[in-house]
Amino acid sequence: MQLVVFLHYCCKYVISYTFTPSVHSVYRPTFKNIVVACLEMRVVGKTTFRRLWRQLVPYIVRTRPLTDLCWECQRNNEALYRSANLPDSVKSAKVLQQQHHLTLVQEERSIYNSMVHDAKLTVAAAGIETLGHNEPCSNDFAMHYSFDFAQQVHFPSSPLQPGPMYFLVPRKCGIFGVCCEALPQQVNYLIDEGMCTSKGSNAVISYLHHFFGTWGLGETALHLHCDNCSGQNKNKFVLWYLCWRVICKLHQSVSLNFMISGHTKFAPDWCFGLLKQRYRHSEVSTLADIAGVVNSSTVVGVNRAEIVGTENGQVNVPTFDWQTYFQTFFKPFPGIKTVHHFRFSADCPGIVFYKATSSSEEQSFQMLQDASTMPGSIGPTKIAPPGLPLDRQWYLYHKIREFVCIASQDITCPKPASPMEKASVPESASAAVLEPSVSASVISVPKQKRKRLTSEPKQRTKTSKQQLQHKKSTEAHKTTEQTVTVVSVSQNTNLVSPLTSSTETRRSSRFRSGSVRLTDFCL
Ligand SMILES: [Zn+2]
Repeated sequence: MQLVVFLHYCCKYVISYTFTPSVHSVYRPTFKNIVVACLEMRVVGKTTFRRLWRQLVPYIVRTRPLTDLCWECQRNNEALYRSANLPDSVKSAKVLQQQHHLTLVQEERSIYNSMVHDAKLTVAAAGIETLGHNEPCSNDFAMHYSFDFAQQVHFPSSPLQPGPMYFLVPRKCGIFGVCCEALPQQVNYLIDEGMCTSKGSNAVISYLHHFFGTWGLGETALHLHCDNCSGQNKNKFVLWYLCWRVICKLHQSVSLNFMISGHTKFAPDWCFGLLKQRYRHSEVSTLADIAGVVNSSTVVGVNRAEIVGTENGQVNVPTFDWQTYFQTFFKPFPGIKTVHHFRFSADCPGIVFYKATSSSEEQSFQMLQDASTMPGSIGPTKIAPPGLPLDRQWYLYHKIREFVCIASQDITCPKPASPMEKASVPESASAAVLEPSVSASVISVPKQKRKRLTSEPKQRTKTSKQQLQHKKSTEAHKTTEQTVTVVSVSQNTNLVSPLTSSTETRRSSRFRSGSVRLTDFCL
């Protein structure tokens, strides 16, 4: 009997998604107060509870932590779950709503799969085995590529990470990948912290432009897929760039496709996963080491590395100011967020054809401000890499250098040319290089806004006892207390707080890996 109740209890918790860190901690008082009192049964301990669970319901497991889930799916599923006691008509409407969403997802996914399948047949027929330099429109076929940003990695990195490194922020490296699923091969642009102008459209377009010129297969018809991030991919500048490529006869036709938000797992994510698996087990000190890890991440050479710029500032892949360049020729596309398919054709230069979904009716929009004025042969201007702010350079030199192997110390964490006294708060240019967490790690924050440290209350208690014992010197002690407190916070601020604030991003990413959450899992 207890086992039956126990099973029902387990199922109830799984279905209701109300798993607590310890189901046993809920089970014990519940059964003790209700079931045991009525049925004269004993409440099992934690070990027996765990053993019975594995023995009787091994298929009921705790959901693994997941990220980047579809918000609409979650909302619809929640609405379905909560409609148990509602009229059938309401239930039916909610089911239809979710069904319509999943049908849309399936349609968009099938378009992606279809394009990839056709590209594989094309590559097989043409006998192409690898990416490489090809002249624009030199191959009369259609090709499909996908592109995306990966989560940045840090270097130096070691599989045997020293403890203090957990609280530090090593040098950062962004990764932008363009994948040709047909081969399959992916070019990964390694963006050093000093090279990173931004993750915005200028960077995306510049890397894409370099890819088509250096690694593209010279296709006449180009098909692209990417996620719905409006800051990087789904914006007017990327549309203008693709329109510009068609106008400049770099392609005869281009299509830009977006899958439904939350359902955008595609080939670049697979390639990023492969290289990060290798990265976690490799000793990395420099960008060249990262490139080696990327190139050796698979036996068949799926991933290739392209270093955007070296640690000492040498630029291999320039970033251009495409935004300023295009603004003189094009006008914004209205309502871009609701559209999932764009198409450009050399037969109608400057015009974008678009559909909200694959089954919607196609419409067109003139993107040129003046149809008689086409973008000329003069291209955009280059954007100089911002480099590392002086504060950040000194941070790497003082805090990170000792963790780099001796041969690479002067590459990854060289001694800055300017003295530290000249280091100041980075302005807009340097703010684009560093994330807010890093800026906070280097720059002193006003002390009055910092949280009190754990050592402070102890000091205050101790001081208040002294005040009771020496009432006559109250004022003097107050002065002393304030002075001691300020000095304490000031010292600890320099030593602890900046690092603590700067490591929040890294800590959260480790928490997402699941290793921490497993510790409080009762099964
Ligand atoms: Zn969904």
